[in-house]
Amino acid sequence: MARILRGVGVRQVAEITLQDVVTHQLDLVIECGFCSHKGLLDAVELVGLFGGRMTMKELPDQVRCRQCHRRGGHAVLFKTGDGKKDWWPRQPEARR
Ligand SMILES: [Zn+2]
Repeated sequence: MARILRGVGVRQVAEITLQDVVTHQLDLVIECGFCSHKGLLDAVELVGLFGGRMTMKELPDQVRCRQCHRRGGHAVLFKTGDGKKDWWPRQPEARR
């Protein structure tokens, strides 16, 4: 199955901008690369902070994990529905 997110089509995660997230009302989740903590981010607030042109490639380096407060190495995931498997481009890591 092709990896497609509604609204943004076949683009890679890294190419999606904060403005896209706001426009298509995507649920943006950052998964911490260190402790696997997941946090839902407010895209409108992020646009206010960083501007709508910031991409998902740049964003993880700008946000701190709310749990371990580390920065960088995070993964950007989108919640696409209410089901356990409704994530793009992949499901979150299981918490250890
Ligand atoms: Zn963390």
